[in-house]
Amino acid sequence: MTTKTKDSLFVANTYKRFPLQLVKGKGAIAYDENGKEYIDLASGIAVNTFGYADEEWTKAVIEQLTTLQHTSNLYYTDPCVTLAELLCEKTGMKKVFFGNSGAEANECAVKAARKYAEKKGRSTTILTLLQSFHGRTLTTLAATGQEGFHKDFLPLTDGFVHTPANDIEALERAFEEHSPCAVMFEVVQGEGGVNPLNYDFVQRIKELCEKNDALMIADEVQIGNGRSGKLYGYMHYDITPDVVTTAKGLGGGLPIGACLLGEKVQDVFTYGSHGSTFGANPVCCAGAVNIISRLDDEALKGVTDRAELIRNALIGAEGIESVSGLGLMMGIKTTKPAGEVIAKCMENGVLVISAKDKVRLLPPLNIPTDVLKKALAVIIDACK
Ligand SMILES: *Cc1c(COP(=O)(O)O)cnc(C)c1O
Repeated sequence: MTTKTKDSLFVANTYKRFPLQLVKGKGAIAYDENGKEYIDLASGIAVNTFGYADEEWTKAVIEQLTTLQHTSNLYYTDPCVTLAELLCEKTGMKKVFFGNSGAEANECAVKAARKYAEKKGRSTTILTLLQSFHGRTLTTLAATGQEGFHKDFLPLTDGFVHTPANDIEALERAFEEHSPCAVMFEVVQGEGGVNPLNYDFVQRIKELCEKNDALMIADEVQIGNGRSGKLYGYMHYDITPDVVTTAKGLGGGLPIGACLLGEKVQDVFTYGSHGSTFGANPVCCAGAVNIISRLDDEALKGVTDRAELIRNALIGAEGIESVSGLGLMMGIKTTKPAGEVIAKCMENGVLVISAKDKVRLLPPLNIPTDVLKKALAVIIDACK
């Protein structure tokens, strides 16, 4: 029986997979079962920060794996505290809760916001944006401002209202009507179509949050961990969120999520108020320590340079209407349907994915420029 047949027999039907089975990878190159090479510009949806089987990362992970793979959170471990300290040092946040995914990081943020609001005896409503994506649990689905994801799963968690991105008047009205205790947003909406928030809109969120003692929650699950050209995407917007959530690229390919708590909420949790069996798993933390400690100024400049190279190559090319995004998270609006372009790229050895009606690029942050140029030539050809 082929893998494809077994998949259709035994794996839940939640994913519409591409007709491709990957068997191994090295750097930015993935190989299928026939040994065909692909330049992977999707990185497992922004997860493989430094590509496949990165040497330093692999070494750090294997060393931890063969030393101590798991302990539960009943005991102290070094990788956990090393990563927490690193994240706090680099962001100015005060404390970190570790989970295993983006959705869990956001669940933690929602619990923190609610507990904070509850203590103050005020509305626990959380404001999020239309076209956002915050995860697949019932609560993070409720936070997600896209009806399409909600249907069939009602009732969702109460207490979320949505307002259009980049609409300052609607934002002001939502604050008046709902007195939210928090606003949660992605500075670049990933699944929503790679749409960055406007600088002025984010400034207004900041002002309204300050004025109303509401928390700013930055969902950095996709744009975070160096992808924007800064360590976290919010750093482009001159704001200091009260809560930052991240996952995807944090572990460089291992499942880990983190909810970073700022000054206002650093002590909101008390013993027993939240937890996770796998949270802060030493192997995942060791992988994340390697990733975060390598995202220095030079690595981040490399991201910005590669992003510029991509923009210069794509903007104005035949069949390309526009390029959106920030750093190495890009959405290409093509004249042809995105699906057609993606299929053509795959045929010619380049992996890209979609975001709504766009072609989405999420290359490894250290992709060699000659490899990137080869991939861009394939994309340009596919868009014609
Ligand atoms: C992917 C994503 C999530 C959900 O992360 P999971 O690890 O799939 O739970 C949440 N927020 C954003 C912005 C994402 O891109």
